Amino acid sequence: MKFNTKTIHGGQQNIDPAYGSVMPPIYQTSTYSQTTPGGHKGYEYSRSANPTRTALENALASIENGKFGLAFGSGLAAIDAVMKLFKPGDEIISTNDLYGGSYRLFTKIFEGLGLKFHFVGMQDSSKIESLINTNTKLIWVETPTNPMMSIIDIEAVAAVSKKHNLILAVDNTFATPYLQQPLELGADIVMHSATKYLGGHSDVVMGSLVVNDKGLADKLYFIQNAIGAIAGPMDSFLVLRGIKTLHIRMQRHCENGEKIAHFLRSHPKVDKVYWPGFEDHPNHEIAKKQMSGYGGMISFTTKENSLKGAVSVVEKLKVFTLAESLGGVESLAGHPASMTHASIPKEEREKTGVVDSLIRLSVGIEDEEDLISDLKQALA
Ligand SMILES: *Cc1c(COP(=O)(O)O)cnc(C)c1O
Repeated sequence: MKFNTKTIHGGQQNIDPAYGSVMPPIYQTSTYSQTTPGGHKGYEYSRSANPTRTALENALASIENGKFGLAFGSGLAAIDAVMKLFKPGDEIISTNDLYGGSYRLFTKIFEGLGLKFHFVGMQDSSKIESLINTNTKLIWVETPTNPMMSIIDIEAVAAVSKKHNLILAVDNTFATPYLQQPLELGADIVMHSATKYLGGHSDVVMGSLVVNDKGLADKLYFIQNAIGAIAGPMDSFLVLRGIKTLHIRMQRHCENGEKIAHFLRSHPKVDKVYWPGFEDHPNHEIAKKQMSGYGGMISFTTKENSLKGAVSVVEKLKVFTLAESLGGVESLAGHPASMTHASIPKEEREKTGVVDSLIRLSVGIEDEEDLISDLKQALA
């Protein structure tokens, strides 16, 4: 099955033998009757498994070209489950430019529980190698990075990870499997905030993991069930519904993203534009190699280069909504330094380019003319 067909049918056999409903029913139930102790139809209790969640988990595995999918109550709950594979003293090497909430989880929760994190720019994989020792267990990659839109070569990092017998996890939230398939490039775990493009309609918070290795899947399933940060049936239904249009939404996000990136770049008041589709983007060649398009996420700074200037632009937008989050059908604008990345100390975030004047756009699937005229009036 090819990708566009998978978004609609992947992993969806044997749904609803009762009435043949085309969409899996929302099994809004906590428990399942048994004819005799242990005599059930595969479902006992909805923390352990729920048929609507199973349908979604199979779809997630299918679109990521993996064998096992797991759905969690949020993206951070999915990351939390990965970190619980490890024990005090274990070390993790992570991208230095990453989602603020991931950084907070690593430094404020897991460092306190004894894990050690190294944050590093991963453009040069020898930098990763120099940090590896006998305690190193995991490499955590986010690409494109949030919000600076740097691209990390997943195959190159996978080679380092394999050489040292580590686990490689990739946060694929920004690219989605429509643009990039980390398991094919050598990753062991692919993680999503399904809140974003997979759900796609800004109406649900959810996370997911997909893996190929049965042993790793069993461990993660054990953690998911033991801790209980699962996705509910209604939310599972919504994300399953979202996935069915992922390919056409992403196609339009990419088209609009490209036009807006070029518009911003030619605007006299705009200074830097960060978008991996530009031929002079420092990692453009890697993006071209591992992604099939460049997506709808764009960051930029204005020439005025001040907090006040950036705030005034985002406040003036009318079609773009000033809001946290990304990946929905509607265009959103954010101010990373005071919103999504406020949990990263100023000094740390400025090292990676998250300055006070940076604005991040999640370009939606509206008419491009309306988006461009909105940006024009806000920048005027
Ligand atoms: C939003 C986001 C997360 C966290 O996911 P939640 O669903 O908000 O818990 C993790 N990584 C990236 C790249 C994100 O954008």
